[in-house]
Amino acid sequence: MTLAPRSDFPLLAGNPELCYLDTAATSQKPRAVLDAIRDYYEQDNANPHRGAYELSVRATDRYQESRARIARFLGVADPATLIFTRGTTESLNLVAAGWGRPNIGAGDEIVITGLEHHANFVPWQQLALERGARLRICDLTPTGEIDLDCLRSLLDARTRVVAFSHVSNALGTINPVREIAALVRERCGAILVCDGAQSAPHFPVRFDALGVDFYAFSGHKMLGPMGIGGLIGRRALLEPMTPYQTGGDMIEYVLDDRTTWNVLPHKFEAGTPNVAGAVGLAAAVDYLERLGMDRVAEHERAILDAAVSRLGALEGVRLLGPPLSRRSGVVSFVVDEIHPHDLATVLDQQGVCVRAGHHCAQPLMRRLGVPATTRASFYVYTDVSDVARLAGGIVHAQAMFATPSARPR
Ligand code: PMP
Repeated sequence: MTLAPRSDFPLLAGNPELCYLDTAATSQKPRAVLDAIRDYYEQDNANPHRGAYELSVRATDRYQESRARIARFLGVADPATLIFTRGTTESLNLVAAGWGRPNIGAGDEIVITGLEHHANFVPWQQLALERGARLRICDLTPTGEIDLDCLRSLLDARTRVVAFSHVSNALGTINPVREIAALVRERCGAILVCDGAQSAPHFPVRFDALGVDFYAFSGHKMLGPMGIGGLIGRRALLEPMTPYQTGGDMIEYVLDDRTTWNVLPHKFEAGTPNVAGAVGLAAAVDYLERLGMDRVAEHERAILDAAVSRLGALEGVRLLGPPLSRRSGVVSFVVDEIHPHDLATVLDQQGVCVRAGHHCAQPLMRRLGVPATTRASFYVYTDVSDVARLAGGIVHAQAMFATPSARPR
């Protein structure tokens, strides 16, 4: 059984044979989200914040109502501290540039982990290079979890930022955010930046309870449209921060020689905003809440259990990643003698969509000692029969790629 009916998702309903196992890259969209976007453009479209006419006021209201709705979903008490961005990548760059440039200098240290997606790796690496700071990369355990002893040893008065993912996109590792936050608070005054791209879609997240200073997420991985996401930050840190981009809407006064900034969240939202995206994402969180985020997590756990036992029983298949109790709905694996790209191509011929490659986590692949993996990821529309299709596809690929002497007669 799926948790959400396939018939709610036009793309899945229109392709009954499609076995979509790549939600960690992007989710499919329910009709409710597509309808909300269409409804916005058909009923309320105008440039918000600008016009003095009623239609523009309606567009502004829909934008702000969407913000409040998404803030409520993520446990954010003050919606003005949720800044809309294009997604996690832009959110993390916003913090690295807006907080990092004025606050990081020579001798400072930035701590990240070997588990990070490039979006939470490269901005910090580049900031360190630009400011003459030192980038320190926390070790992982052999199963791909953050080594907390190593993290502890890296933290001292020089540490200004600790940036880490809530959930790894490549392995599904769920990191102990609250424990990490407590450890950092005990050892130093660094700010905590959490990449939530793979947590917000999959289980209940309450920003106010995480203990971090910033949390970044992407709408397209949680049933919403592409091109919208957010950065949640503590007001005390956002207020003094420098805007990441400048232009229309984010200003208060523009004098010939200087400019003063608008209030939060507008200070960080330069230019015409993605209102339809925000409206679509609000519809996505409505949909997820109707399903119930606890039930979303339970459903993915059941699929994950099935996938690990099914794939784990296949000869020549090696599963990567932590124990199931600390893993979200991701199975990353390598198959003897078959390159992940070849495997993904053969699976595609059977209608099974999986991701193959380094998953935008080259530093992690180096640490795991593999050039690439194949990754299957699950969501509310995944059924155990999808897992059976994946397992069958792997066996088929093994037969295709077997050397002649090993090939079954
Ligand atoms: N971090 C993680 C853990 C991710 O999985 C992703 C998306 N693959 C990102 C960051 C970047 O998200 P986006 O491409 O939506 O900006």
